[in-house]
Amino acid sequence: MKCVICKNGVTVKGKTTVTLNRGESVIVIKDVPARVCGNCGEYYLDDATADKVYHQADEAVKRRAEVEIFRYAVDPRKPSVSQPSMVAEKKPTYGK
Ligand SMILES: [Zn+2]
Repeated sequence: MKCVICKNGVTVKGKTTVTLNRGESVIVIKDVPARVCGNCGEYYLDDATADKVYHQADEAVKRRAEVEIFRYAVDPRKPSVSQPSMVAEKKPTYGK
């Protein structure tokens, strides 16, 4: 399909990272199957995928997580939660 945001790109099947802000919580869900625009990077989730993403986000909010990063799970009852230490890997190095 054609991207409705930039109206130039065409979306292709791929994976994306979904970031949701829910009140005090920031939820990042990786490896979400989506159609991604090759031009601007906008992603489109189908309804079933969006439902699961939002369900997993709600679960994180219920756990009062401030920041939660995990991979998309097909079965939302068993989310594979990443360890917080993995977040630190991408810290920029200063002083160079
Ligand atoms: Zn686009």
